[in-house]
Amino acid sequence: MTLAERDAQIIWHPYTQMQTAGLPVGIVRGEGALLFDENGKEYIDAVSSWWVNLYGHAHPHIAKKIAEQLTKLEHVIFAGFTHQPAVELAERLLTIIPDNQKRVFYSDNGSTAIEVAIKMCLQYWHNQGKSRTKMLAFKNAYHGDTFGAMAVSGRSAFTAAFDNLLFEVEFIDLPTRENIEDLKSHISHLKSDLACFIFEPLIQGSGGMIMYEAEWLDELLKHCKAENVLTIDDEVFTGFGRTGKPFACDYLTEQPDIMCFSKGLTGGTMALGVTTCTSEIYNMFLSDDKMKTLFHGHSFTANPIACTAALASMDLFISEETKGNIKRIKEQHSLFKAKVEKHPKVRTARQTGTIVALEWETGNSTSYLSPLRDRLYNYFLEAGIVLRPLGNIVYILPPYCITNDQLNYIYTKIFDALNEI
Ligand SMILES: *Cc1c(COP(=O)(O)O)cnc(C)c1O
Repeated sequence: MTLAERDAQIIWHPYTQMQTAGLPVGIVRGEGALLFDENGKEYIDAVSSWWVNLYGHAHPHIAKKIAEQLTKLEHVIFAGFTHQPAVELAERLLTIIPDNQKRVFYSDNGSTAIEVAIKMCLQYWHNQGKSRTKMLAFKNAYHGDTFGAMAVSGRSAFTAAFDNLLFEVEFIDLPTRENIEDLKSHISHLKSDLACFIFEPLIQGSGGMIMYEAEWLDELLKHCKAENVLTIDDEVFTGFGRTGKPFACDYLTEQPDIMCFSKGLTGGTMALGVTTCTSEIYNMFLSDDKMKTLFHGHSFTANPIACTAALASMDLFISEETKGNIKRIKEQHSLFKAKVEKHPKVRTARQTGTIVALEWETGNSTSYLSPLRDRLYNYFLEAGIVLRPLGNIVYILPPYCITNDQLNYIYTKIFDALNEI
């Protein structure tokens, strides 16, 4: 039996309707932007394996550092103990994010990084004896799949089965020149109940690669600061160069109170989450009263192998080669966007940094569950490209090592699909 057949008997896959999904593709090896399946077919990983991979698969530098670390220390309890990779990663991370971020809290993944951020905000107020429990988030937001992260995400097909169990969140529109004053007065109206405002900066990824302008986000953040509402910048997706700058918040003048990282943090090699915060938030948990402790932790908090992967990834992130690659992908994407947006089957196309997305004209149905999505997915897979459209939104989110030839092949196949489907 093939890997795929053995899998199909016993495994339940994420975000997959198991009754109608075809056999999974059994991958045996990866190199650069390519994945190789058990039948020897190769695929270009045009979605960076769910947005995590930055420098290519099985990167030798990351592999070497991990192998060395494995012979020194694989894991140790992180309460009462520490280790070199965790300390060095915290030190290095704090030098490349906004300078108001002073403390690093580790967890396992993006959703847990968000859970920690939410709990920091709620308890920040609780520790002062204040009741501020309402959260502010954007419509169509996505912050993860655990309950707290799901609660601050837009209500959608993803959350429908749980909607009545999710805590109360005030959802607002993305800010624009037209609505900014309304949004500000709405926040002012709610402020004494608001614990925090959580946002995906510049791009709502899972929501459909919806892009909005830094200028108006900056205005909102400025207003939150003035009204004493804490802000959480979810850089789980946008971090580490995706938007063309190291972090999406580098397009802003305002600094968030809390930041969340995962996905590209380890170059896509290991599961790791980080939540950082200001001294002001951290200090609110310091007390002789043990009830003011942040009671949160995971078995694998600050796993040394994952921290080592993140450190090796950071070496690659700051290299000239990576900067050059990000610039090159941006340029290639913008040439593609200019061409593809003229195609009659394209409703709109948009780009931020290394991410380009187009909306397929469908006449009517545009939901995440649209049948067009499966046809497109299979079409590209057949052509040796991993693209996972979000409904009728097709996006390319490549690892930075992707070559121009590989990009051009993807662009060509997208044009073919536009003409044929
Ligand atoms: C993917 C994602 C998360 C959740 O991260 P996981 O590691 O998948 O739990 C949170 N926020 C944003 C913006 C994301 O894109």
